[in-house]
Amino acid sequence: MKQPKDVLEMIQQENIRVVDIRFMDFPGIWQHFTVPVSEMSEDSFEDGYGFDGSSLRGWQPINASDMLVVPDASTARIDPFYEEKTLVLIGNIVDPVTREAYSRDPRHVAQKAENYLKQSGIGDTAFIGPEAEFFIFDDVRFDSQRNKAFYMVDSEEGVWNTGREENPNLAYKPRHKEGYFPVPPMDKGQDIRTDMMLALEDLGIDVECQHHEVATAGQAEIDMRFKPLMEMGDQLVWFKYVLKNVGHQYNKTVTFMPKPLFEDNGTGMHTHVSIWRDGVPLFAGDKYAGLSQEALYAVGGILRHCKALCAFTNPTTNSYKRLVPGFEAPVNLAYSSRNRSAAVRIPMYSASPKAKRIEFRTPDPSCNGYLAFSAILMAVIDGIENKIDPGDPMDKNIYDLPPEELAQIDSAPGSLEEALQGLADDHAFLLKGDVFTKDVVERWIEYKMEKEVNAIKLRPHPHEFFLYYDI
Ligand code: GLN
Ligand code: MG
Ligand code: MG
Ligand code: MG
Repeated sequence: MKQPKDVLEMIQQENIRVVDIRFMDFPGIWQHFTVPVSEMSEDSFEDGYGFDGSSLRGWQPINASDMLVVPDASTARIDPFYEEKTLVLIGNIVDPVTREAYSRDPRHVAQKAENYLKQSGIGDTAFIGPEAEFFIFDDVRFDSQRNKAFYMVDSEEGVWNTGREENPNLAYKPRHKEGYFPVPPMDKGQDIRTDMMLALEDLGIDVECQHHEVATAGQAEIDMRFKPLMEMGDQLVWFKYVLKNVGHQYNKTVTFMPKPLFEDNGTGMHTHVSIWRDGVPLFAGDKYAGLSQEALYAVGGILRHCKALCAFTNPTTNSYKRLVPGFEAPVNLAYSSRNRSAAVRIPMYSASPKAKRIEFRTPDPSCNGYLAFSAILMAVIDGIENKIDPGDPMDKNIYDLPPEELAQIDSAPGSLEEALQGLADDHAFLLKGDVFTKDVVERWIEYKMEKEVNAIKLRPHPHEFFLYYDI
């Protein structure tokens, strides 16, 4: 792990003159400011740099706005996009008066979640593997005539395309909801996705694969190799940054919005979780689908707390436009080894105990990774501590169940408001070990209600003009 003196050496050796300090804000956008190397010494890793905490969403009031960001030497990487060779350091947020870690710093929540796992005695490492999907668009505009958002996905040919409106000539275009992996020329995203993948690899972020995804137009997925929770929190921020910036180089935009296209597949971030102790994987065993009893309890924890979890794993109003039947997104709170319509799947690709994990399919990449991964881990720990029985697996296709049977299965929240209510009703499992403080939970609910739920509720929706204008 890099120490401050290693970073200073690296600065010398690589002849670096500029350092970019970055941190994650509360809702989940990376923030930064830049200092010349003359402003950096070993002390900077103790003293930190000041900034105005009241200018960041969800953080400090104006009358207590001074905050510090203290760079973490182990996070040093060279930015691949700036013209000037620049060292990037991710920092932790600290109160300048008390010198205490700031409880609303998402990265701090992740640190505490990792510590709590150790304290609980259950394990020492939580491995997280997110499969973040995304869309690559040229541009997005709203067509008020047709009351639709139109995405320009194929500018060379000048086609305005949602992928559905160009019958009869579908030459070299993936058919509606059949985008999943045909070779070029149907696949037009190979070069951009490979550039994204290699840019991640160059940063030391291990990638397992990249591919086109099922939605018709420009949907993609790049999978990172699993890493410990905190490291994956940092990597996910780099991941989004790299994809957006490579997209920008190609004059495209990359969006992690969960449901940009009506009636097409949305964007998920299936999240694989396993717990290890002293180098031994704890989720492999002789129970259902090769799981251990602990893993089944972990599934129980996720299913029981799913409504509250969604407030962090699916934290936008748009997230709930994805969680509807028929688009490979989970709706029902069930688990299965095969069933992709269940909220938790047990992947069966490998028989190795090291690969044994649970896949929570509900999350989407609009989340703040530090908070989402921490909340998932806390639900897993709660399941194991309280021996929460996940019930029987659901190996049928849930989408095809008769209504009577379907009514027996609980569903994911139908809206952000419902998820926030779920969090308000059920958050004791998050407060253990002071991982999420009461303040973080309350502020999250208040912020999301005011800035997102109510902001959307109060605005006339374009589709309301279609429905009601002539009424
Ligand atoms: N896009 C789907 C989702 O919303 C997942 C599709 C897949 O990876 N098989 O979760
Ligand atoms: Mg996948
Ligand atoms: Mg996928
Ligand atoms: Mg998956």
